[in-house]
Amino acid sequence: MQTEFLIIGQGISGTFLSYYLEKEGKDFLVIDNNQTDSPSRIAAGIINPVTGRRMVTVWMAEEILPFTWKAYTEIGNALAITAIHQKNILDFFPNPFMRENFIKRAEEKNDYVHAYPEQNHFNAWLNYDFGCGEIRPSYIANAETLLPAWRNFLKNKNLLLEEDFSNEHLSIKPDTIQYKDIHAKKIIFCDGTGSVENPYFKNLPFAPNKGEALIVEIPGLPQHHIYKKSMLLAPMQQTDMFWIGSNYLWEFDNANPTETFRKSTEMVLKEWLKLPYKIMDHKAGIRPATLERRPFVGTHPLHPAIGILNGMGTKGCSLAPFFARQLTDHLCYNSSILPEADVSRFAKILSR
Ligand SMILES: Cc1cc2nc3c(=O)[nH]c(=O)nc-3n(C[C@H](O)[C@H](O)[C@H](O)COP(=O)(O)OP(=O)(O)OC[C@H]3O[C@@H](n4cnc5c(N)ncnc54)[C@H](O)[C@@H]3O)c2cc1C
Repeated sequence: MQTEFLIIGQGISGTFLSYYLEKEGKDFLVIDNNQTDSPSRIAAGIINPVTGRRMVTVWMAEEILPFTWKAYTEIGNALAITAIHQKNILDFFPNPFMRENFIKRAEEKNDYVHAYPEQNHFNAWLNYDFGCGEIRPSYIANAETLLPAWRNFLKNKNLLLEEDFSNEHLSIKPDTIQYKDIHAKKIIFCDGTGSVENPYFKNLPFAPNKGEALIVEIPGLPQHHIYKKSMLLAPMQQTDMFWIGSNYLWEFDNANPTETFRKSTEMVLKEWLKLPYKIMDHKAGIRPATLERRPFVGTHPLHPAIGILNGMGTKGCSLAPFFARQLTDHLCYNSSILPEADVSRFAKILSR
């Protein structure tokens, strides 16, 4: 079989890369093994313009946020689904210090940090002693709807192989690749932590970290906001269902859910909620994070037939569409990739 691009992985990265290549009218084939605990399948999909206790504006928020909204809206329209919602974050201050900090940021006219006028509005449902503020705009990307919908699209067009990819069947020539009986001009790895073991990319400074979430039923809690206290409580598409997470573990033996996370999250729920709740599921996965917290995008400096779209870390839902577009333009029109994300910044270590 002959194709132009062989894409490994249909998480958020592989979904948007194949979407943009399809829009460009390119030939491609996706191989994906539908790993149930891949981060794209367990993420809340929160797209948050500020981060951390100091509420620092996230990297490239001004450019990436509007792009992300447009990207999910467009792919959603193409598939007749809603792929993104605006759900602003209500930040419930855990102490007076955090309240002061938030007010200071709002007074500095930070574009995303706003006072919330109805301080008592959530008293019926939540315990909070120090008030709240609003982080706006924030979004939820509905990966749980988008990924299967795009998968169906690919399947219907015979553009998807549902199987494990294995490097042992791959051979690389200067301008082409061969994988089993597939001949392609390029192979692009969008396989998340799979690339950590990839012989061509294993020297990249990956720093995978494990994260967990509980899926909780909370009848009666309004679903028009994301709630934040020590954790994020995000509404899901189904009525009364919420996602709560997460933790960040750099040392772990496996990708399994832990009792420690479940217990600490239950304590948060008990302390925070005035409503009864029921835990429906517990998920865990490993984020393809990087030491510098910047993605890996582009083609291998020694092997131009091999590319990568990876290293999305904690922010794949916002970074993946933006950099999938950049990689598509690079592949189709030879346009440049943002230097901070271009994998060629590691030319030296990739040439070893
Ligand atoms: C608990 C948790 C919560 C998160 N919450 C958020 C959030 O709210 N917002 C946000 O922006 N980000 C969040 N993230 C991070 C986000 O999920 C990731 O950045 C993003 O999903 C990475 O997407 P990806 O497509 O690059 O990789 P992946 O999601 O890892 O996708 C890789 C794909 O490749 C396939 N694959 C891998 N190896 C092979 C192989 N050998 N053969 C065939 N197929 C293969 C897998 O099945 C998968 O489909 C969260 C992550 C976790 C763990």
